[in-house]
Amino acid sequence: MGKKTGFMEFTRSLPILSDPKQRIADWNEFHAPFPVEELQKQGARCMNCGVPFCHVGTIIEGWTTGCPLHNMIPEWNDMVYRGKWREAYRLLSLTNNFPEFTGRVCPAPCESSCVLGINEEPVMIKEIEVSIIDRAFEEGWVVPRPPLHRTDKRVAVIGSGPAGLTCADELNHHGHNVTVFERDDRIGGLLMYGIPNMKLDKSIVERRVNLLADEGIDFRTNVRVGNDMSTDDLNRDFDVIVLCCGAPKPRDLNIEGRELNGIHFAMDFLTRATKQLLNGNSAGVKAIDVKEKNVIVIGGGDTGTDCVATSIRQGCRSLVQFEVMPKPPERAFNHEGWLSKIRTYQVDYGQHEAAALFGADPREYSVLTKKFAGDEAGYLKGLETVEVVWNEGKMIEVEGTEKFWDAEAVFLAIGFVGGEQGSLFGDLGVHITDRNTISVNDNKQTNVANVFAAGDSERGQSLIVWAIADGRKAAAGVHAFLRDQPEPAIILSAPS
Ligand SMILES: Cc1cc2nc3c(=O)[nH]c(=O)nc-3n(C[C@H](O)[C@H](O)[C@H](O)COP(=O)(O)OP(=O)(O)OC[C@H]3O[C@@H](n4cnc5c(N)ncnc54)[C@H](O)[C@@H]3O)c2cc1C
Ligand code: SF4
Repeated sequence: MGKKTGFMEFTRSLPILSDPKQRIADWNEFHAPFPVEELQKQGARCMNCGVPFCHVGTIIEGWTTGCPLHNMIPEWNDMVYRGKWREAYRLLSLTNNFPEFTGRVCPAPCESSCVLGINEEPVMIKEIEVSIIDRAFEEGWVVPRPPLHRTDKRVAVIGSGPAGLTCADELNHHGHNVTVFERDDRIGGLLMYGIPNMKLDKSIVERRVNLLADEGIDFRTNVRVGNDMSTDDLNRDFDVIVLCCGAPKPRDLNIEGRELNGIHFAMDFLTRATKQLLNGNSAGVKAIDVKEKNVIVIGGGDTGTDCVATSIRQGCRSLVQFEVMPKPPERAFNHEGWLSKIRTYQVDYGQHEAAALFGADPREYSVLTKKFAGDEAGYLKGLETVEVVWNEGKMIEVEGTEKFWDAEAVFLAIGFVGGEQGSLFGDLGVHITDRNTISVNDNKQTNVANVFAAGDSERGQSLIVWAIADGRKAAAGVHAFLRDQPEPAIILSAPS
């Protein structure tokens, strides 16, 4: 424990974010580094509880609480307080393969289970995490560490999101020969195409991918396994296959007018916006442009918020975000509020930006979209809604609350319904659950002995921190499986 009285002396600081009115002029990351002295004060607030809850990730009533990676939070808080940054980095990298991602975009369920949060603001854990890893990169402590020995085992990882990258990283360090196949043109999954650049700069993703490549992982882009490469080829060339294909199938809103031009899935909008940002206008995919348009985002979650922030940067004329659930209560720092941060009212970066630009939080609660309306040419003109109330989980429409909203662009951000199975899963013979996810055991192994799965593809759409945790678990399962194979692993190469 750093400072015995730290939690009484210092209050929580807020992350330093650039001014919403200024940052919407570009696509740069809005997160700024914290001064070291302030970070040390924040580290000193950690009480090093006898029974810390922050590092035990679990799911309570459907919500994550605590860190699924079991990050050693009290320990690195103490080291930051004492200025032992290198030791803090060493500890952090033992449990988290990519703290530069989680430290930027994790919703920090660790903070909602911090014991200080029972009666005041919790320790600022996420900010400390990102500061440790950013400093480690700056100081040159993060360098390629190729494995000392290579085995003769070959592993194919399908999908390069956080689950696939983690699994590849772990297995590569065990000495296995890992190839990652990605159907898109860049590595990273939703880290690259999904989460917008202002939240997670793509150069941060590329920096880590380059490091993994330098350590010996073979990355192959533009390969859609199941189409460009058959499962027979996979089985012939690899001892183990790990499916980390995500859960990208979007939930649709099949109401009148759905076919109109101007209604898009959120992921199409976000992916194309990032591709245009990275490729420029000249090459490849063009963004869905909402400049001067009235935009409605249907869905009040994180994906919807990313659509809000992206629309603002493109110069939309107006913006509304619908949420079908009622407005959640404000967070109370008491016993009842503890462990329930995610279910309370939160204002995320997109809503801050919308409020700065248009004068109010763009969210409309308890609103159900009934039908879309268009012009003779088939272009969206607007949509009709009705207000709803909830009674014991049942949604009831309120008569007389029908309303028409002008909109030339609508983004559907109402969740995901599992994987895009295509022929891949069928050809491999893996069992699929009734949630459209891949069925796995505790070691992330499917019903086919040499096929494993990790991340959203087996968990359903979730969080980066869970994808990393799942990737680690799958890698441990694969390593144990390979070790038990009749032929012992052969050492192919020695360190230089
Ligand atoms: C818009 C959006 C914003 C989000 N923001 C956050 C956030 O701020 N914080 C957070 O913690 N979580 C966030 N999430 C959730 C988080 O991104 C996911 O839970 C996480 O990325 C899942 O990782 P994954 O590796 O399982 O899958 P993914 O990241 O989805 O990666 C799967 C990869 O597999 C590839 N693939 C699929 N099939 C094939 C095939 N046949 N052949 C080759 N490649 C294939 C896909 O192209 C993709 O690159 C967000 C999700 C979305 C949609
Ligand atoms: S990974 Fe997420 S839950 Fe774990 S310590 Fe970092 S911010 Fe907290």
